[in-house]
Order: sequence, then structure tokens, then C-alpha cells
Amino acid sequence: MHILILGAGVIGVTTAYELLKKGHEVSIIDRQPEPAMETSFGNAGLIAPGHSYAWTTPKLPGNLFKSIYQKKRAFRFKFQWDPAMWYWGIKFIRQCTIKNMTENTLRKHKLSSYSQVCFHQLVEETNIKYHENKKGLIYFFRSEESFFEGKQKLTMLKPMMSNLQILSRDELLQKEPALLESQSNIFGGIYCSSDESGSCRDFTLSLVDICRKMGAKFHFNTNVQSIKNDNQFVNRIEADKGSFQADQYVLACAAFSPIIAKMVGDYLPIYPVKGYSITVPIINHEKVPLHSGIDEDNMLAFSLMGDYLRFTSVAEISGYDTRHKPSDFKEIIDIAKSLFPSVCDFSRVEYWAGLRPMTPNGAPIFGKGRMDNLFFNTGHGHLGWTMCSGSAKITASLIEGQKPELDLEGMTLATT
Ligand SMILES: Cc1cc2nc3c(=O)[nH]c(=O)nc-3n(C[C@H](O)[C@H](O)[C@H](O)COP(=O)(O)OP(=O)(O)OC[C@H]3O[C@@H](n4cnc5c(N)ncnc54)[C@H](O)[C@@H]3O)c2cc1C
Repeated sequence: MHILILGAGVIGVTTAYELLKKGHEVSIIDRQPEPAMETSFGNAGLIAPGHSYAWTTPKLPGNLFKSIYQKKRAFRFKFQWDPAMWYWGIKFIRQCTIKNMTENTLRKHKLSSYSQVCFHQLVEETNIKYHENKKGLIYFFRSEESFFEGKQKLTMLKPMMSNLQILSRDELLQKEPALLESQSNIFGGIYCSSDESGSCRDFTLSLVDICRKMGAKFHFNTNVQSIKNDNQFVNRIEADKGSFQADQYVLACAAFSPIIAKMVGDYLPIYPVKGYSITVPIINHEKVPLHSGIDEDNMLAFSLMGDYLRFTSVAEISGYDTRHKPSDFKEIIDIAKSLFPSVCDFSRVEYWAGLRPMTPNGAPIFGKGRMDNLFFNTGHGHLGWTMCSGSAKITASLIEGQKPELDLEGMTLATT
């Protein structure tokens, strides 16, 4: 079969790899000049089944409301007139009950854990290097109250993950001595030995080389503009560089997938949630943290990327604009400096912002809509790097008409 994948981020490229392994002919279109230039470019790099919590908690609506007048909140909302945002936003807020939060967390955890197993298999097959750090992740808290909430949240995942370990302040500092330098309050933490980190972009670039050797054809600088279809099938994709035809099609365009799905009459409940990251060169290797992790009170993730440390934060519902200015990063830089004061050269910061493709329940969308030959693999929100390999395997099974290894309840258009 010839399969055309729309989108060469980590999701599209891992899907290409799985399909090539099964002997299919694969082509990929992307509007960017290179792979992984959008959301997969500067993310936090955490592979974190141990942190696959739903964002839609009962507290979230109040926090979003407060963000209208308290601009510095990490989770924030900027008022706009976009009807797509309001339609999606209502669905998102409806998920903020204890029951939905628990169900959504368990669903995300199931996919994340499955995906991590598939990911390890892929890495073993390909021997890809991606600045991997397999020492486990640390999640730490600044106050008694936030630590208490963190431990409460943990009860959702604990039945499936016996290796989630609660650490007192002293135990945490013993595990992660780099935090001893920190000029901020640290109260306690949680350690997950099986969570890990690495560069999503480097991984995707290497996997593209492997896919090319396996016969995949990549078409970069190619923008999908319209779809020619009848009532049942996509007949061809029209792009600015010509027409593309295949037997089956995969939509993996992240926050832009709904715009393309709409061309064939499907509604995908995905909306962008903007995040910011800085990548900073390491100048003092002796003081570098051993683990990647999250400062929970500040929603700040930090991650080792070879000779660089990356810090990411902010979840901003503000539409499709990825523009940013250095002043947008002031809080991130201040917290990063206070955590690891002597590790990085903050005069050489690389700034980035990207759009998490969020669904209301936080899980991606698989399967088909109105077209029999258009498969969705999209909407991975804040965990697309964690979920990439499992999602690719699920999509390859669906295309071949086989039952995926995972139950897809809550992850198809019919069940969301
Ligand atoms: C700040 C931040 C931190 C994050 N941290 C983590 C983390 O620690 N762990 C984790 O698991 N996940 C994390 N994520 C989420 C993760 O980055 C995403 O879920 C993942 O990258 C999505 O991959 P994708 O391939 O779907 O999207 P993308 O990488 O955006 O790929 C989609 C591709 O589609 C292409 N495209 C779109 N429209 C068109 C069109 N019309 N024509 C042609 N091509 C088109 C784009 O050019 C793009 O290359 C984070 C995200 C952000 C923003």
C-alpha cells in the first residue's frame, strides 16, 4: 500500500517508520524546510508516564479565570474572539471534574506506558542517540500545601506504578545534589525511576534518515492547501507543490489538523496551548543536575540536552500565534537561574515557543472520521514525545485493519 503522511513532526515520522517496517510505500509532506520544526522542536523532552496527569482538574477553571488579571500565571488564558477556541474551551472545561480527571489520567497513563515500551523497542532496533537520560525524573514541590496535593494526585498513578517514590527534602537533595545550590524553597519531591528524557528533535531527525534509507520519500516546503474527496474517500491532496495521491492518508499536523480535517467535513476537537522554552549552554559541568524533572509549583520543566539545559513553562490558551519576545521569558529565566545558579551561561539563551495540540480529555485522536482512507494520529497535547511510538504502532495496526494492542476508548472521534 502507498501511504501519504501529512506532517513530519515526531508523530508523523514515527508513524512512517512503523509503516515502512510493515513493508508499505511511504511519503511524507511537510510545509517546513526540515523535520520537527514546529511543536517537536523545542519541547521539554520528558518521557513521563509517571507524570501523565490530566490537566483538566477541578481547580483549573478558577486558575484560568484568575489568569485574566494575574498575567504571570503559568496556566493562562488570553481573551480572543475565535469561535473555535470557545467551542473547544467549553468541552475542555467540562472535563474539569474529579471523575473525568481520574479517567483522563488513567487513559493517558495507559497510552504513555505502552508507548514507552514501543519507544524502547524502536531505539533498540535503530540505535538512535537522542541525548537520552535514563536516570529517572524528579518532580519537586516548594511548599507543604503543594507537596500534599502532589501526593494526593499520586494516588491516581500509584496502583499502576510501584516505582513512584515520595522523597522528603533531605532525600530529594541527596538524590539530586545540584538542587543544593538552589536559592529557592524546596519542600519535598517525587522520584520516578522509569521516566526519562531526551531530545525529541534530534530523535526525529535521526529517524528521518533511517526512514529515507528504508525508502520513504519526504517532500518539505510543501504546504497542504486542499483535499479532493468524494463521499467516502480522499482522492488526492492538493499542495502548493502539486498533487499527491496515495491509497491511505495519515493526518499528523498537530494543532493544524482540525483545519485540514475540516476540508473533508470532520471536526477534530484540538486547540493550541502555547508553551515557551529556553535552551542554555552549560558552562559548569560539575554542577549539572543528574536528573531532568519538574518544579511543580512553577510548572517549569528542566531537561538535559547534551551540552545544554532546556527549561520550559507556561500553558497559554491564546490562539495560533507562536511569536515571542525576550521579555516573555523573564520568569522562566529567573526561576532557572535561582534553581541552578552556576550551571549555565544565561547570556546565550535560545528562545522558542510552540503549540501543544490539546484535546479536551488530553488524549490523542486515532482512527477515521468521514473518509474511509484518512486516519488521524494527532492531538497529543503535552505528551506527544512520550506517546509517539505507541501512537505510531496503533495507527499502523488500524491502517492494516488489525485490532490495536490498546483499547482506544476516549481516543477516537466516536468515543470522545
Ligand atoms: C513547551 C512544550 C513542552 C513540551 N514538553 C513535552 C514533554 O516534555 N514531553 C512530551 O511528551 N511532550 C511534550 N510536549 C508536547 C510535544 O512536543 C507534542 O505533543 C509533539 O511534538 C506533537 O508532535 P506532532 O508531530 O503531532 O506535531 P509537530 O511536531 O508540530 O508536527 C506537525 C507537523 O505538521 C506540519 N504541518 C502543519 N500544517 C501543515 C500543512 N498545512 N501542510 C503541511 N504541513 C503541515 C508542521 O510543519 C509540523 O512539522 C511539549 C510541547 C510544548 C509546546
